[in-house]
Amino acid sequence: MGWKTLDDMDLNGKRVLVRVDINVPIVDGVVTDSTRIRRIAPTVRDILAAGGKPILLAHFGRPGGERRENLSLNQLVPTLERAFETRVLFAADCIGAGAEAAADALQPGEVLLLENTRFHATETKNDPELAAGMARLGEIYCNDAFSAAHRAHSSTEAIARLLPACAGRLMQAELQALESALSQPQRPVTAVVGGAKVSTKLELLGNLIEKVDHLVIGGGMANTFLVAKGLPVGISLAERIMKDTAAEILAKAKAAGCEIILPSDIAVAKKFEAHAEHEILPADQCPEDGMILDAGPDSLARINEVFEASKTLIWNGPLGAFELEPFDAATNAAALKAAALTRAGQLISVAGGGDTVAALNASGAAGDFTYISTAGGAFLEWMEGKELPGVAALESA
Ligand code: ADP
Ligand code: MG
Repeated sequence: MGWKTLDDMDLNGKRVLVRVDINVPIVDGVVTDSTRIRRIAPTVRDILAAGGKPILLAHFGRPGGERRENLSLNQLVPTLERAFETRVLFAADCIGAGAEAAADALQPGEVLLLENTRFHATETKNDPELAAGMARLGEIYCNDAFSAAHRAHSSTEAIARLLPACAGRLMQAELQALESALSQPQRPVTAVVGGAKVSTKLELLGNLIEKVDHLVIGGGMANTFLVAKGLPVGISLAERIMKDTAAEILAKAKAAGCEIILPSDIAVAKKFEAHAEHEILPADQCPEDGMILDAGPDSLARINEVFEASKTLIWNGPLGAFELEPFDAATNAAALKAAALTRAGQLISVAGGGDTVAALNASGAAGDFTYISTAGGAFLEWMEGKELPGVAALESA
């Protein structure tokens, strides 16, 4: 961990530029899900409590470098005030004389929100001049937007090199969870990778087979591996052209000492539909007109065994077509098993990914996981073993 936290900084009386992710969904001017805003509240509160003055830097949507009123951050002020329980002022630009005056006038206990950084086209180019304009507003830079850390932008990368920099509470929690899951994990480590396609997760699989002891492959992508093993998959979702790539992954995993666990039995239907008529068959017996939509109970028993023998679990991708009942069965049961082991103190469990978070929430297991990342792309790139520019900039700060 080469980065600092808020605890390492002297915040008293200082203007602290905080990069946050408040890219919340809005319908007709109303915030429909304020999760992202609630998650940055601890950072804002801790800065205020230490006598610092938080100045929030954020993007909102994709204005493409143009000032677009429907993408103004101004509309989030009431929601922010409720979440922080304090006054939130607004500056109509994230650089310039007006923003500087607002930052100077900020009183202890108040928060300043700056306008959408992406109203400047150079933000996404990591322009150092734009970053310098932002840096003039504060004395300390705090990045609390892990979900934007896989992009080198002026407000995530260049600026971190211009001011004393640290991670906010959310970024800190995310990095600590991810580091304990993959960088310095307690072994054995098991990864679950599921979802639709092998092609979108090749780098992920390649990185994981080098790092984990067991790799459970599920969902549509498991079908491609069954094809690679010469098994029939009927009309299942499978990327037949990825067959050789899948075979290579199996061979590399073997060489690396990583055990791959594929479904040994399958739930097979004729249609991609909720409550479609289906049967449980051995994994080598998918009929020509059959569609594999989930893993079966034997597969699940093996997954449970592996979870029990593991100390760390990292999970991305559902084990079946979880949106369609009852093909959420394997995902739900495995999630509940992981949750129970975590509650019992036997397992560190970390999960992330858009559909994964939805599936784990639906299973009722999410609350018991050690950490659920909502960072999407940044989580995946981190799991792929890539350096995240926003984190790297904090490390060299
Ligand atoms: P994440 O968003 O968590 O990274 P993915 O987008 O890779 O996950 O995968 C989720 C999708 O995979 C879901 O829409 C799910 O229906 C689909 N899926 C999983 N198993 C199957 C299957 N056997 N057949 C068809 N689709 C599947
Ligand atoms: Mg998805």
